[in-house]
Amino acid sequence: MSEELGITVPKKNFGEWYLEVVKKAGLADQRYPVKGFPVYMPWAMFMIKRITRMFEEEFERTGHEPAGFPVVIPESSLKKEKEHVKSFEKEVFWITHAGKNKLEERLFLRPTSETAIYPMYSLWIRTYQDLPLKLYQSGQVYRYETKMTKPLIRGREFFWLESHTVQKTAEAAQKQVEEDMRITENVIENKLGIPFMLFERPPWDKFPGAESTYAYDTIMPDGKIAQIATTHNLGRNFSKPFNITFTDEKEEKQYAYQTCFGPGVSRILSAVVSIHGDDKGLILPPELAPVQVVIIPILKKGHENKVKEKAHSLFSELRKSFRVRLDERSYRPGFKYHEWELKGVPVRVEIGPDDVAKGQVTIVRRDSGKKLAVSEKDVKKKISDILKDIFDSMKNRAKAFFDENVREAKNYKELKQNLKRGGLVKISFCYEEACAKKLKNDTGAEVRGIEFGANEKPVNKCVICGKPAKKVVYVARAY
Ligand SMILES: [Zn+2]
Repeated sequence: MSEELGITVPKKNFGEWYLEVVKKAGLADQRYPVKGFPVYMPWAMFMIKRITRMFEEEFERTGHEPAGFPVVIPESSLKKEKEHVKSFEKEVFWITHAGKNKLEERLFLRPTSETAIYPMYSLWIRTYQDLPLKLYQSGQVYRYETKMTKPLIRGREFFWLESHTVQKTAEAAQKQVEEDMRITENVIENKLGIPFMLFERPPWDKFPGAESTYAYDTIMPDGKIAQIATTHNLGRNFSKPFNITFTDEKEEKQYAYQTCFGPGVSRILSAVVSIHGDDKGLILPPELAPVQVVIIPILKKGHENKVKEKAHSLFSELRKSFRVRLDERSYRPGFKYHEWELKGVPVRVEIGPDDVAKGQVTIVRRDSGKKLAVSEKDVKKKISDILKDIFDSMKNRAKAFFDENVREAKNYKELKQNLKRGGLVKISFCYEEACAKKLKNDTGAEVRGIEFGANEKPVNKCVICGKPAKKVVYVARAY
């Protein structure tokens, strides 16, 4: 195997390891000549589409319908909600010309679609019978990020889905937050094995214009937090400026309540790459893997035909149940093993002359490296059991890492020590923005918020400033 192919940096040097894996596993190519816009290659794109599809299925199951709003939005729509405009004005890409003509009104590329969708909602919604309205779309959004970009973790173009619901009451809007949480659980935990906590962000860190923001945080291997999805309860903060009203059962005109939810597909994939991977490269959850099983024939002089024949018949049989690749390239088997390990394929099936003679195959697990000989007639059942077992052990390992990295601090010194170790630290907190700013200046950490649904009462004074504590919050350094 050539040095070029394998991962040379151990995962404990996470920053370098990540970039090497992204490049060598064929996820993204950063040589595209616009900064912050990498090219996503087939191995990544397959997974981006698959994660998108997982969310779409959840949306459809919960009564959301698909829609397709334009990527361009007129400047006048942005200006309708004053907090929203303040925040996004500086980070949108503007379109000022078409051909040789200057546009009468500037357009911008959507950084998120509230201002594209809500003027239309205002036209469509008439009575309470039109509600709830639950639409979603999947696609890319654009933000002029000024922080350092990194493929999938932070880019100027990213893949996501956004759902926008309109509800009759504040209670119904709050219920939507819970539905979004179950959707996220079903995909991120139950299919991808990524643990998360859901936090209500403090008021100074809300989505611009939202009444409250709920964010899904996971812990990356370097102990920093990645936000992978958010739900915003918009209250009536957008329905008023955008004039989204309905007549209720008593024929009275009401402003509607709204929510929006955005799972970040690029971020989620970066978490899968980072959290599950090891020193050899990717380890992919079986439901996500572009290839679940790779078959590698081991050819020895004089036995080529028997082995090839067996490999082909196994390939035809297995592809009825799994995503299978038969690797018949002329490279040495060892080279192929390393390449598929690097790309994270969950199961490898080796077939050599000895296996053919004994009526068996050799199965190797990517997660543990364990090898076992399996009789030909049991192969399909065995692989299906192993894939399930691989997922369970990936999920458990990720959960154990997450849990080990949630700590508690009783005073500022303890908090600082814990922050150095990475992960989330639980503290009693005064809930003042000035105090959060002091924390940020002293340590670089942020207040991630109150755990959703936890309802914990603070026992200490604020561990940062010593004033009476109002809330129990979690703090961390974040991407
Ligand atoms: Zn304080």
